[in-house]
Amino acid sequence: MDAQYYVGCDLGGTNIKAGLVDLLSGQVIASKNTKTLSYEGHEAVIRRMADLIKSLVAEAGFEWDQIGGIGVSAPGRLDLEKGETIFITNFPGHWINIPLKATLEAYLHVPVYILNDVRAITYGEWAFGAGKGVDCMLCFAIGTGIGGGVVMNNQLILTQGGTAGELGHITIDIHGPICGCGNYGCVETLASGPAIAAMGLKAVVQGQKTIIGEMVNYDLNKITAHVIAKAAEAGDEVALSIWNEVGSYIGVAVINAALVVGPKRVVITGGVAAAGELLLHPIRETLRKRMIVMPADKIEIVQGSLGDNAGIIGLAVWAAHGGGLN
Ligand SMILES: [Zn+2]
Repeated sequence: MDAQYYVGCDLGGTNIKAGLVDLLSGQVIASKNTKTLSYEGHEAVIRRMADLIKSLVAEAGFEWDQIGGIGVSAPGRLDLEKGETIFITNFPGHWINIPLKATLEAYLHVPVYILNDVRAITYGEWAFGAGKGVDCMLCFAIGTGIGGGVVMNNQLILTQGGTAGELGHITIDIHGPICGCGNYGCVETLASGPAIAAMGLKAVVQGQKTIIGEMVNYDLNKITAHVIAKAAEAGDEVALSIWNEVGSYIGVAVINAALVVGPKRVVITGGVAAAGELLLHPIRETLRKRMIVMPADKIEIVQGSLGDNAGIIGLAVWAAHGGGLN
């Protein structure tokens, strides 16, 4: 790593976020967002990414020779070696074999490295966040879905074309509900934000004694994981039992992955992780009760500490390491 400053840029379904990162401090020193507008097609979207990064660097008062490189993430399957998207489910045309790296390099004239979005979050939390200082770590990012990542021996694990680390698709219930991936009973189907909201909805509809319904004025579409966390904090027994159940599902996924890689720390992040101890405590209890052969008390379960900046920081670190591929 020669340069001090790198750019991270996250291409999301709704927004493109770019941040200029100082890798001495691990801080995002300037950031800028724009709309993705994926219906405009890949050429327009990649052009908009390049323009966003150019204006970020210019407005921060930097010259391009101060920028060591750019890390870019996208929300789908990627070919990291070719620097291409393979398939992005939610984008029109699905971005099949789009040369994201080469196109951005042609616009920006600095090295560009691509990475899956949640692997970038994992790398950021490991380098500068809640995973700092351990050589082996798991990350679960729990939101609309559940993403993941694995660091082992101080390296982000990206084998099998970068699909290693898809912790949200660990099977918890072989007879469980169908998952977006096509499998049944993945932890994502049982413990993602929408799955948690559905548990709250079910409790209200069944007439269980809970404040969840009145908290949303019985507009049941407004029940979210956040509402159920608020209810639990107010002492609502139904809401507390929902978090215990969610924590047990995540806990079993943690155990299944931990038995393979033996992590020292497990970072839980994403919007649902804002529930804090409501979620972390039952995860720890599940490890204590069910992980018999590996010492549960040697695996720390912690909340992510970088919030929305984790991915941007991880991408900057990834670019500084030359995309980890050389
Ligand atoms: Zn799945």
